Amino acid sequence: MKLIGLLLASLLFVSICSAKVGKLQRANGLSKDDFSTVLEHCEANLPKVWDTLTSIRENGVNVRLTPERKMGPGKASGTDQIVISTFFLTKDLPKFPEDRLVIVLLHEFGHILFNRETDRSQRNPVKHEFFAFAYSIKAAIKLAENSDSGPLQEVVKNVKIRNETGKPKDPHTIAIKELIKTPLWTTATEMLEGN
Ligand SMILES: [Zn+2]
Repeated sequence: MKLIGLLLASLLFVSICSAKVGKLQRANGLSKDDFSTVLEHCEANLPKVWDTLTSIRENGVNVRLTPERKMGPGKASGTDQIVISTFFLTKDLPKFPEDRLVIVLLHEFGHILFNRETDRSQRNPVKHEFFAFAYSIKAAIKLAENSDSGPLQEVVKNVKIRNETGKPKDPHTIAIKELIKTPLWTTATEMLEGN
């Protein structure tokens, strides 16, 4: 599993030299003991998640853990903050296997990159989601090219599901409808068919 860490560090990320390593932080409502337990759980049982988190932090992003679950598995804000729900990290949910959690982290990092690379006038919720989904797919393709197709399988599966079942006015759904018309999507799905 060290391999994925090296790959993530070398392939995915763009601004390592300028960034200072982001902190792992504890949200209000998460005890110090629970914080330690969650970190130990991730490091021991979710090595891909752990390596992805490390690579994202090495790009200057602070990662805050919260026991809040209503917000969903993850949420990015600004240019250096991601919040992750400990519920999704620790509960062994059938719909959120480790490979999907990796995609969640990459998606949220995509939002951070979009905020870093654009100014406010270039952003809207659909463009934000499009960039984040596309970023996670590109990163998953690189992992698949280097012998781990698990994250790519998860992102393709879940994009297809959201395309079918997402609320039509939800920016995620609108972005997905655009994304599946792109060459990137064709590449992603063909890679899996070739497996
Ligand atoms: Zn998003």
